[in-house]
Amino acid sequence: MCFYPRVLRPSYRTYIIILLTLVMTAVSLPGRNRIDAATVDETIRIAIIKSALEVKVAGDGLLVTNEKGDVLTVSLPVTVKPSKDGLLVEGRPYRRLLFSAPSAVLVNNKPYRGLAELSVADKGILVVNQLPLEEYLVGLINCEISSAWPIDAVKAQAIIARTYAVNRKMARSALPYHLESSVMDQVYDGSLIEDSRSRRAVQDTAGQVLVYGGAVIQAFYHSSCGGRTEASENVWGASLPYLKGVECQYCLTSPTGTVWEYKLSLPEIEERLRAGGHKVAGLYDIKPGPLNSRGRLKQVILQATKGGGAISGDQFRKAVGYGVIKSTRFTVKNSNDEISFSGSGNGHGVGLCQWGAKQRALDGFASNEILSYYYPGTELKKLSEIR
Ligand SMILES: [Zn+2]
Repeated sequence: MCFYPRVLRPSYRTYIIILLTLVMTAVSLPGRNRIDAATVDETIRIAIIKSALEVKVAGDGLLVTNEKGDVLTVSLPVTVKPSKDGLLVEGRPYRRLLFSAPSAVLVNNKPYRGLAELSVADKGILVVNQLPLEEYLVGLINCEISSAWPIDAVKAQAIIARTYAVNRKMARSALPYHLESSVMDQVYDGSLIEDSRSRRAVQDTAGQVLVYGGAVIQAFYHSSCGGRTEASENVWGASLPYLKGVECQYCLTSPTGTVWEYKLSLPEIEERLRAGGHKVAGLYDIKPGPLNSRGRLKQVILQATKGGGAISGDQFRKAVGYGVIKSTRFTVKNSNDEISFSGSGNGHGVGLCQWGAKQRALDGFASNEILSYYYPGTELKKLSEIR
């Protein structure tokens, strides 16, 4: 179901929104404290450093405790190293260390809100930042988009980042952390790039998540789709009713939505494919395979003396490099053994198109309208309503 063609034009909407806002404010005032309390209590755990051989922790008023909750007296900055007996600090071993501070904990000189929890994992130090979900979102906005974008695009980003985080938290509740801090999940770099517009977008949408059939959705998103968003089954195999792909011409004016081109020699491509685990040798040509129903390259045909054949567009992109082939909306051309890749869009193309959302907000659409367009059939709910 597509909501977009049915929404009213901005000029009419403005009067209705003002009226509805007045009514909603009057109705919601008595229940406000309950909702705010539920929102504030929600925490999230992010892996900010993995397999480190040394971590330095500091901060004004830093409190350090071990796995038993004993307060440790140590000099700052605290240098932590992994050893066979656990975490080593000033010659003494610990299984787990917790760091907290009134404003921010500095981990390798970067400020983080909430707690920093250190433990040994994968022969190095794992640092998990545990903090209120809403504070995490304020820090995240400027890693994903610019908070200077129209406020409804920033609010849409806050909602999908919250939705994504809550969905991952539910799926990984038994694991040491819920999210990576990289493009594997959502990019997050502590509290250094928080600003007032990010905070406003998070506060204005406090606790709101997208649900489908009563369940918190997998709110995938990407930089720009290049003309049409992708269906989830074409990338990950799993078909989701709210991730079928929609038309999106709105990102085409963006710097990342326009056409890109990259050239690589055949030996360079072969090297990248082999490093990515594809057993190919003597690569002498590459041809584009068929397109899928969303206009993206379903397969790339490798012509080689050994290990040639069809490979999925997504696997090919992963092996050659996400920075080289920015999306699977591309084509391949061979001129004198130099392969040129040209395409449009940036990212996997599933779910919300960030540059498209920016243009929609500039056109006067509200964050909920933007979201119902990119995730058809979903609705907005407060976390306190679904728990
Ligand atoms: Zn788009």
